Amino acid sequence: MEVKIKNTTISLVRGDITKEDTDAIVNAANSRLVGGGGVDGAIHRAGGPKIMKECRKIGGCPTGDAVITCSGNLKAKHVIHTVGPIYRDGNHNEEKLLESVYRSSLERAIENGARSVAFPSISTGVYGYPIHEAASVALKTVIDFIKTHKGIDLVKFVLFSERDSKVYKKALEDIIGG
Ligand code: ADP
Repeated sequence: MEVKIKNTTISLVRGDITKEDTDAIVNAANSRLVGGGGVDGAIHRAGGPKIMKECRKIGGCPTGDAVITCSGNLKAKHVIHTVGPIYRDGNHNEEKLLESVYRSSLERAIENGARSVAFPSISTGVYGYPIHEAASVALKTVIDFIKTHKGIDLVKFVLFSERDSKVYKKALEDIIGG
C-alpha cells in the first residue's frame, strides 16, 4: 500500500528490513546499543562488525532518541539506531516516547541527507507495545512530520509478518479515511 503526502511517499511492505536499499534503515536498538535479538540482531548479523564498532564509540542512546552509524555490508547507506519505549501499561509516557522515536529518526535522516528511510515496527516485538496502537502512533507521527519538514522522499514501513502488515494497512486506511 502506498500514499503520497505532499512530496513524500509512505509505503507499507512486508519483508526483511536488512535487504532494503533505502538510504537509511532504522534499527530497534536498546539504550546501551549493545545489540540484541529481533531486528537488531538481524541488522548486526547482516551488516557485520563495523556497525557495532561505531555503536560502541557512541556508547548509548536514551529512549525516544536516535543515533546514526555506517551500514557495514548492507545495501542501505546508513543505519539509524533508535530506542523505543518498553511498554508497561500505557501510563508511563510510552506514546510520547514512541512519537519521539519516529521524529528523532527522521531528523537524523535529514541531517545526513538520507532521502529514503525504512522503519521496522519499533517497540512491538520484545518491548511489548500493542501493535494496533503502535501502528497508529507510528503512521500519524510520520505523516505529521513530513507535512512540516522537507528532505524525505520515501518512508517505507517494512513489516516482518503478514499480521503486522495487515494491522499497519488498516491503521493507514483509518488515518487517511478519517
Ligand atoms: P523491540 O525491542 O523494539 O520491540 P524487536 O526487534 O523485538 O524490537 O521487534 C520489533 C519488530 O521488528 C517486530 O515486529 C519484529 O517482528 C520485527 N522484525 C524482526 N526482524 C525483522 C527484520 N529482519 N525486518 C523487519 N522487521 C523485523
